Amino acid sequence: MATIAFIGLGNMGGPMAANLVKAGHKVVAFDLVEASRAQARADGADIADSAVAAVSGAEVVVTMLPAGKHVLAVWTEVVPAMSKGAVIIDSSTIDVESAHAAHALAAKHGIASVDAPVSGGTGGAKGATLTFMCGGEEGAFAQARPILEKMGKKIVHCGGAGAGQAAKICNNMILGISMIAVSEAFALGEKLGLSHQALFDVASTSSGQCWSLTSYCPVPGPVPASPANNDYKPGFATALMLKDLTLSQDAAKAAGAATPLGQHAQEIYKAFEAAGQGGVDFSGIIQHVRNLAGTT
Ligand code: NAD
Repeated sequence: MATIAFIGLGNMGGPMAANLVKAGHKVVAFDLVEASRAQARADGADIADSAVAAVSGAEVVVTMLPAGKHVLAVWTEVVPAMSKGAVIIDSSTIDVESAHAAHALAAKHGIASVDAPVSGGTGGAKGATLTFMCGGEEGAFAQARPILEKMGKKIVHCGGAGAGQAAKICNNMILGISMIAVSEAFALGEKLGLSHQALFDVASTSSGQCWSLTSYCPVPGPVPASPANNDYKPGFATALMLKDLTLSQDAAKAAGAATPLGQHAQEIYKAFEAAGQGGVDFSGIIQHVRNLAGTT
């Protein structure tokens, strides 16, 4: 069993680190917040006094942090302190540019590195059912894979450095756009006197079928487990969806790709967040879509 340093023990990192402990690994954890450290201790991890102390002697280092600037700050500190032959994995969702910079930093110190953002949310983190989208060299991925398998059920090697982040933001751009599309269809159906169930029964078995409809339906009723049945409590908060759409638009600009629907989706979620709804599940966007009637 490996010695694993885990840095960033928030809503995602906390349960992911707990799953590595459950799998029999020695986990040395660190977070800036005392409550997160206390929870990790209760889950069976050893707690280090700093990120640098956590990585000392570790064969694997995992970071799960809010954004690119946090990842670069932590990697700048810990990479030079890592053991020869160790691998560092970042599972945060960050911008592609920072992911490339993080890989370059690791390469400069001769450390193998993988970007491995996740899909599956806090439920997936707790249940060890996350999907990991990985970018990095074949050898680094091979080192990371057995560790990721203890925290997820699908591990995809998407390509070289940054490919995992690229896959993540492309996927979430589809999700953000498709949730608005499904919401518009229900809002129109309501105006046309169509019941939610009738539209669901048709679209879920027709060409309108998609995950936003069949697994995460934005109206209560047809999919009992969707946040619409629980007052739009997240789930996946609007602020996080907006973060990912913003990353996709930054990447599109930098790469010279046209993503007009992605751009429009970003504007729509931004307006919803500005209306004080950032903490609401992103499927709550249907309320905003309904309110647009008569304003466009
Ligand atoms: P979070 O804010 O709950 O956790 C981040 C943790 O990092 C916090 O506990 C914070 O104290 C810690 N941290 C920040 N700077 C640090 C530093 N310098 N040293 C040590 N610890 C530090 O966020 P989260 O929901 O766990 O998300 C983590 C990442 O995963 C984000 O990039 C997010 O976009 C991504 N993600 C989240 C979800 C979700 O549903 N929450 C789903 C997929 C991906």
